[in-house]
Amino acid sequence: MKTGHRLTGKYLAWTTRRPDATCWWCQYKIQTREHLFKNCPQRKSQQKTLWATVLETTRKLPGPTRSRDRTNIAELLADQRCSQAVLTFLATTDVGRTSGPPAAGEDEDAASEASEWEAREQEERAWARRKEEETLGME
Ligand SMILES: [Zn+2]
Repeated sequence: MKTGHRLTGKYLAWTTRRPDATCWWCQYKIQTREHLFKNCPQRKSQQKTLWATVLETTRKLPGPTRSRDRTNIAELLADQRCSQAVLTFLATTDVGRTSGPPAAGEDEDAASEASEWEAREQEERAWARRKEEETLGME
């Protein structure tokens, strides 16, 4: 799962650095991890799949059972039993939406979403560079 690993790394970096970003799907003003994984109205079907898989998987394996309402996102991301479900969620949510018809109610096409992702990435890199410069400047 090389691709998945890279995707998660990117995603984690982004969520850590940008907890205040506007959600780029529903324009909710704070795109927290909670929002994306649990509340974003544009990602309802993916969230449903994610939490159903997580519940089913964690029930079968040793360790705490993870349900949507009792699991925060830090716990979800840290739990290796859930990583496949998380990767699938990120892939279907972000850049990897290559298979299957779009869920009902989704009218944006994959291309526009991908270019939006690109724009975010560029913004991210610029932001990281500035931050690095600031850090260096202070020492
Ligand atoms: Zn949203």
